[in-house]
Amino acid sequence: MFSLFLAKLSFMLMTIYVCSACVFDEVTNNSTNITTLIPRYYSVPNQRDSSTQYGPWPFEVIDDVNGNQAPIYYCYEGAWAVNNLPLLFADAFAKWNGAFGFSALRFQQDPFCGDALECECAIGNTRDDTLRIGAVRTGISHASLGYNYQSNEPGRHVLNLNVVGYSPFDLASRPVYVLIAAHELGHVIGLGHEHQRPDRDSDVDFHCENLVGYAAAHAKVVDSRQSWSLPRKLPACDLPKWLTDDECMQNVVCKFSDYAWTWFPEAMNFITGDQQPAWKDLEWPTWALDTYSIMIYNSYDGTSYPNNGRDATFPDGAVLVGKQRGSGAIFEIFQGGNRERAKAIPSGRDKGRVGQLYPRGIRYGRT
Ligand SMILES: [Zn+2]
Repeated sequence: MFSLFLAKLSFMLMTIYVCSACVFDEVTNNSTNITTLIPRYYSVPNQRDSSTQYGPWPFEVIDDVNGNQAPIYYCYEGAWAVNNLPLLFADAFAKWNGAFGFSALRFQQDPFCGDALECECAIGNTRDDTLRIGAVRTGISHASLGYNYQSNEPGRHVLNLNVVGYSPFDLASRPVYVLIAAHELGHVIGLGHEHQRPDRDSDVDFHCENLVGYAAAHAKVVDSRQSWSLPRKLPACDLPKWLTDDECMQNVVCKFSDYAWTWFPEAMNFITGDQQPAWKDLEWPTWALDTYSIMIYNSYDGTSYPNNGRDATFPDGAVLVGKQRGSGAIFEIFQGGNRERAKAIPSGRDKGRVGQLYPRGIRYGRT
């Protein structure tokens, strides 16, 4: 069912360099001396056609000498967004700067807007496939994943930032919104949530019971299971084996998107991709999870612990707990690899995958 990403490189011939100071994790083939970047996390397949639900954005220019160009054109949806979001997004785009030098990727205003800083989406003038960046005040921030090659529908590429609490003058909270915007841009580029990789349980423990809304979901489930009405609403909790209510929550409601969607929507962004039809085309590598990725959640994101877990002693109340393969040592996860949001950036492997999805077409200047 899954098109598993298989590294077609022979490990016997390779030296693997892993260091935190490197820009990228690199794999060098000793016989050919060709260096490639380790693709690390969960993303759209590298295919620019309608055979998958989504792929990387198209190349506008293919030029092996001067470099390919794969611009992600964008505009702002509505007056509020035009007036308030450009400077915020300038900082969010900048977080991806490190990926640009090694890839054909660019964030670029819709050609209709020229150089004007305030680029408002204008149907009929801005491109149908342009990314529309808007503001919402309900629900969570969200974005479309990669480029949709199966549709020509105008407005199919969107990024909606929840701006409740955002003020351009509040410098203290600004880094929080910039990081969220940069994370959403990661989805637009084509990256999925690292913690939803189907094999994530090897590297991270998901504590569903610490998610906000768990107690209410549990109560609803108990209520339904105690009723005698047919058909049973949680059949996977009854057959082939009768599960306790806690098991029903942990092994069914917190694991399968159909059940989560009905009984505990707060868990949806933690369900592994193999149990989510919408993410069926995503690919992942064989390497361990990238816990520095800008596409993974912080350990306390979504926690029911008071004050969003700020005063908690890790791992009390944590939703995601990182664990080292081998030693089993546990650690707190910080999105973008830094406790300080202002310093959080795409990881080396985030950049590495961008380089693969949007190859520049020329050598990276190595000698
Ligand atoms: Zn996300």
